[in-house]
Amino acid sequence: MKTSTYHVYVAHQNDIHLTLSGTEEHSISYHSTTATQFLNIAVSSINPNSRPFVIRLNSLEYGELREKLQAPVRNARNIVVRQSLSDQFFHAFQEQVQQNQVFRPPPNMELESCIGCMQKESDVKLQKLCAAQEEGSCVQCFCRPMWCLECMSKWFASRQDQHQTETWMGSQAPCPTCRAKFCLLDVCMIVK
Ligand SMILES: [Zn+2]
Ligand SMILES: [Zn+2]
Ligand SMILES: [Zn+2]
Repeated sequence: MKTSTYHVYVAHQNDIHLTLSGTEEHSISYHSTTATQFLNIAVSSINPNSRPFVIRLNSLEYGELREKLQAPVRNARNIVVRQSLSDQFFHAFQEQVQQNQVFRPPPNMELESCIGCMQKESDVKLQKLCAAQEEGSCVQCFCRPMWCLECMSKWFASRQDQHQTETWMGSQAPCPTCRAKFCLLDVCMIVK
């Protein structure tokens, strides 16, 4: 739904096509001291009663919008969307975890939904792999898998110094449940 001075535009999600139609760059905005990118997204509906309209969105909120949509946003012009810090970190986090050893759960282990988002199935297990058990400052976690990769990445990022992003990849965070310290090398994807 979009409201403007004289119109209210309504479209049902099941009837629409979304297309990234353009961007505007602002070197500074009133609520941020870094460059801001705004995206124009054209909403066209297959329902003849609803007229096409354009919504405008801060690019940092684009990831969140896409999570809520059932259909993809078309990006025919290959517009480069500037991502939020948490999205950027998630990509780096995921790349590292994909290189780590995987965890194969025993047959009797039930995987429940992630307690962070309640949507995805838990798909990561913390295992101390960065050093031998008695070496280093990471500690073995004995918790059953309770988190998905994305929520674990958000948790990890939230425990870091927000002004020193360059140190994040090499840092540690406590397990959200037992507080055992872990690093990126200790996050294992679950493979059934
Ligand atoms: Zn989750
Ligand atoms: Zn734990
Ligand atoms: Zn570690």
